[in-house]
This record gives sequence, C-alpha cells and structure tokens, in this order.
Amino acid sequence: MDAARLKQSWSQVAAYGDQVPLYFYSTLFLAYPEVRQMFPANMAGQRDRLVSALGHIVSHVDQVDGLVGFLQDLGADHRKFAVRAEHYPAVGEALLATLRHFLGEAWTEELEQDWTAAYGLVSQVMIDAAQAAEAVNPPWWVAEILGHERRSFDLAVLTVRPQYLLPFTPGQSIGVSHPAVRAWRYYSPANAPRGDGTLELHVRAAPGGAVSSRLVYGCAVGDQIHLAAPVGDRLTLRPAGSADLLLLASGTGWAPLKALVEQVAAENSRRRVDLYVGARSPGEFYDNDTIEKLAASYPWLAVTYVVGLHLQQPGEFGQVVDRALADGDWRSRHVYICGSDEMVSYSVAALTRAGYQAGQLHHEGFGKHWYGPTWRDSTAPDDSGGVR
Ligand SMILES: Cc1cc2nc3c(=O)[nH]c(=O)nc-3n(C[C@H](O)[C@H](O)[C@H](O)COP(=O)(O)OP(=O)(O)OC[C@H]3O[C@@H](n4cnc5c(N)ncnc54)[C@H](O)[C@@H]3O)c2cc1C
Repeated sequence: MDAARLKQSWSQVAAYGDQVPLYFYSTLFLAYPEVRQMFPANMAGQRDRLVSALGHIVSHVDQVDGLVGFLQDLGADHRKFAVRAEHYPAVGEALLATLRHFLGEAWTEELEQDWTAAYGLVSQVMIDAAQAAEAVNPPWWVAEILGHERRSFDLAVLTVRPQYLLPFTPGQSIGVSHPAVRAWRYYSPANAPRGDGTLELHVRAAPGGAVSSRLVYGCAVGDQIHLAAPVGDRLTLRPAGSADLLLLASGTGWAPLKALVEQVAAENSRRRVDLYVGARSPGEFYDNDTIEKLAASYPWLAVTYVVGLHLQQPGEFGQVVDRALADGDWRSRHVYICGSDEMVSYSVAALTRAGYQAGQLHHEGFGKHWYGPTWRDSTAPDDSGGVR
C-alpha cells in the first residue's frame, strides 16, 4: 500500500469540499436505503464529521500502530449507531465510487487497489473490535436521571445512573444521546468512578444545540437517556503517576478536570495540584460550592478563580493561562487544559511561547465536531515523574 499516494489522492478529493460528502451519502443511500435511518434526520453536521474522519484515517494509514487502537475504539463505539459488520462493505463501495467520481482520470487501477486494501484493513479492525466489545459492553447503556440541577440559565448538572456499570477513566468522555434526538455527543464525566456507578455530567446548552438543549431544558429527574462507551486519553493521568499538576479550566471544561482532582484524591498520590478556573463573569462559576469543598478537604489543592474577557483580544478567554503564567513557573509540572477550542488553543500557544514542552501539555477542546485520534509521542515525558 502506497501511503503517500493515498494521502495525495485524498487531498485532491477533499479539495471539492461539501460536494464530497454529498456525493458519498447520495450514493450510499441510493444503493442501501436501509442505512439512512442510522443517520440523523438533519445531515448537515454529519457531513463534516465523515470527511474529517476519513481524511484523518487515511492520512495516518502509515502509522498503523497508532491507528489500530483508535480504530478499535471507533469500531466498538459505532455499535451505538446500530452499525453491523454487513454495513461496512456498503460504506466501502460508496467511498470508492466517490473517489472514482472526483479523481476522474487520476483514478488508476493501482489507486483502486490501494484504497480497497486500506479500507479493508480499517473496516476489518473495526468489525473485529465491535465483535470483541460485544462480550464486554452493551452497544449503549440506558441511564436514569437521578439529579437535574439548573445552575444557570443555560447550564445543568446531571447525575445519572446507568443500568449496568459503565467503566471509564477520569478525563475520558462518554457518548450521550436522548431517545427523542437521533444524535450522539460527547460529555465528560465530572467524577472519578463511584461505588454506586453514578456519573455527574456538566452540560451547557449550545445555542440551537440538538443534544445539549434537550439535556438542559428538556430533561427531568426520572427521565432516561442513553450513554455510550468512553473515549479518549488526552486528559487521562498515567497510572501511578506522581508529577505535580497545573489544571486550567474554563466553563464546563472544569468537568473532566474535577474528575482528575477526585482521582488524585482517591490515589493519595501526594501530587500538588494548582487549579485555575475561568469564566467570563462571576455569575458563570456554576460549581463553586464543590470547588470550595474540595479545596477545604485537600491541602495539596490550591484554587484560583479568573474572571473576565481578554482585554486586548475581545472574545478570547485567555486569562486563565495568563494568570497562571503570571503567578509562577510551572514548567516542572504536567498541565491539563480543558474548555472551548479558543481557550485551549490560546493556552497551548501561550505555554509553548513560555517554554513548556508539547509532551507536558494535555488538552481537549469541547468545540470539535468529531472526536479524532491523537497519539502520544513515546519520547515525551509522561506524568509519572517531573518534567525536568
Ligand atoms: C471530547 C468532548 C467532550 C465534551 N464534553 C462536554 C461536557 O462535558 N460538557 C459540555 O457542555 N459539552 C461538552 N462537549 C461538547 C458537546 O459534545 C457538544 O458538542 C455540545 O453540547 C453541543 O452539542 P449539541 O448537539 O447541543 O449542538 P449541535 O446540534 O451539534 O450544534 C448546534 C450549534 O451549536 C454550535 N456548537 C456546537 N458545539 C458547541 C460548543 N461546544 N460551544 C458552542 N457552540 C457549539 C454548532 O456550531 C451549531 O451551530 C464535549 C465535546 C467533546 C468533543
């Protein structure tokens, strides 16, 4: 398989933008109308997701080691859409037809063989993982809402109990869907695993958002929602780590970082943790009571609240990192950052400029439409020890 040829042909096709997923889905639904019901009624967001997913997978086809783990997660995860083994060839056919259409004369026999082989590899890993996952987890969990607290106009903290234990690691995210909305979104449990299996979710309603609005405005105690298996390791702590931590949170980005604080407490690992929590106005701090309780219980935890917009760059929520950098030199620590995409990229850029290494920065932005793979650089330091 010629990875360079695959990447190059993909970039040619991707240049056609929205036409590509349009053609792909038309081909797929025409040939296999039964798969239409697996996709949301409104396909607008879905189109972007597919193109990003395919592009990402294909452009990393030469990094098989990293790709396999991701594809296994993806295959197991896709069970929540009721995807079965027989659906994969249908998608493969539509993909090849799409490539053939947009590449025109550049579509050669060699290229067809490469794409067929690459797709065969990708789909087989996903199918095998989905089968293996059957023995471990259900495709999704039905969960009952035990608590629904509106902490502000557009933000709710939900406590939910899945019907079976849903194992996850602090810092991961889980799929969430409402039976009335045929769409899944990721939310990050705001707790370390609990004995009673309950999960806490912090949800801010995005304007016009299908799932978040339903969870904030259209749910009550006693309702049922659906949860799917956890994904991601960008914000997880390495087992038995001991490095001190700097946590930078804005908005509901506090949720996975709260889970990390609880994990550090449960592991009794003697890490020092400095937490900076940001919001645009004092009224947006929706979890102060909990934060205060944590700070009062754990002498190793120090909390700083940061309020306000960036004065020089209106719209940037940069002050969390600015304040942390003004307060001290944290270069011996691992830094975990979570919030909007803007807050995360601003923070990473500021820390990088200040001499922090990529390997000590762990971050997740909530604005992404598709959850893609990232690979740990095996040469980067992990949080099992100090950075320098
Ligand atoms: C790994 C991961 C973890 C996440 N964890 C959380 C969490 O713990 N709590 C939480 O509240 N959210 C979290 N999110 C965001 C969440 O998954 C949804 O994207 C968000 O709730 C909007 O979904 P929706 O269906 O309501 O909106 P959609 O129907 O998908 O979008 C509706 C409109 O809102 C816009 N929009 C989408 N997402 C956002 C956003 N984040 N901010 C502002 N506008 C947006 C879209 O561009 C669109 O115009 C996470 C996202 C990721 C990728």
